[in-house]
Amino acid sequence: MASKNVLDLDDVNVGYETSEGIKVIRAFEEMKLKSDLLRGIYAYGFEKPSAIQQRAILPIVQGRDVIAQSQSGTGKTATFSISILQAIDINIRQTQALVLSPTRELAVQIQKVVLALGDIMNVQCHACIGGTNIGEDIRKLDFGVHVVSGTPGRVFDMIKRRNLETKNIKMLVLDEADEMLSKGFKDQIYDVYRYLPPATQVVLISATLPNEILEMTQKFMTEPIRILVKRDELTLEGIKQFFVAVEREEWKFDTLCDLYDTLTITQAVIFCNTRKKVEWLAEKMRESNFTVSSMHGDMPQKERNEIMKEFRSGATRVLITTDVWARGVDVPQVSLVINYDLPNNRELYIHRIGRSGRFGRKGVAINFVKSDDIRILRDIEQYYATQIDEMPMNVQDLI
Ligand code: ADP
Repeated sequence: MASKNVLDLDDVNVGYETSEGIKVIRAFEEMKLKSDLLRGIYAYGFEKPSAIQQRAILPIVQGRDVIAQSQSGTGKTATFSISILQAIDINIRQTQALVLSPTRELAVQIQKVVLALGDIMNVQCHACIGGTNIGEDIRKLDFGVHVVSGTPGRVFDMIKRRNLETKNIKMLVLDEADEMLSKGFKDQIYDVYRYLPPATQVVLISATLPNEILEMTQKFMTEPIRILVKRDELTLEGIKQFFVAVEREEWKFDTLCDLYDTLTITQAVIFCNTRKKVEWLAEKMRESNFTVSSMHGDMPQKERNEIMKEFRSGATRVLITTDVWARGVDVPQVSLVINYDLPNNRELYIHRIGRSGRFGRKGVAINFVKSDDIRILRDIEQYYATQIDEMPMNVQDLI
């Protein structure tokens, strides 16, 4: 749900490098959308399209292959969700659009957005994800849904079992596309892609799209419209970035405890690089009487759901997690991100800090750096032409 923005996102995205002739449509009512969809958009609380929505919805609706990049929290989910809702025929209750994402939480979040925006249209959208009851999946798919939002493994399983019929699919959306086309996922995506009709439109979405990924797209996209952001425009003005020099690993814990009051001003996400470390840190914080929740990909799905629910509702305020949470998850109240460990690559840095500062809100990111990490941080700073200063004493005033 939208609330008052600190920044007007219409003006934030000055850095687009678009294909020639991209039209900018500044109002939803000028997008020639179905009236039920338009009413759904307003009922959801959106008043005006963000910059990426102004540029990408039209070409997607026109059936073009599209590569759409935009900073974190600028409304990419609604960009493709609105496009899908406009493109499907609601009278045909068969899967017409397939969205693939890297995590189950993200697939479910996307399903919720599609359902909400398409509520008045009466859209059927199913989240097809691992860790859930297969029988339930089959039942939903057999009943017939217009849109499937899922993770690659379960989606492929449902396709092979022929419970997910692909013959009416006309659009494939890869959210977090650079992740989906990276080594870990590429083969799975290809498995699914082979089952789709040859004319299927392909839409790629992400905040980060490194060159090697863009180069790959020639193999499966046709004359795509490209809406890209220059590297030095990718970090948002609204997210202030800092570091704390801790010298040694052992000092991180005390630094975090000192920051606890700051963490709970609104809500905070703390990133560690391994599941084990997440468990260790959560346990150690609890032993010291701090209230924290924790989540990682090794937990049973039910427990993951429970933790997500509590954190989304604000019942818990501090979440310690892995990169399972780095991409896409939208909890607007999060205003602080801590990198307890620095991320393993430059892209993850953008995604992690982007869990704060959603849709123009203010955000703060704090990096804990050991002596030998400083080099990595300076590399990130230079790569994105951004500024990461030493954390000031009054950091809580910035949140
Ligand atoms: P991204 O995928 O770009 O990281 P999201 O799609 O998750 O960003 O959107 C971030 C937040 O902005 C969400 O809470 C969403 O509801 C809100 N939002 C998106 N588009 C609009 C809009 N046009 N007006 C108001 N809020 C919006």
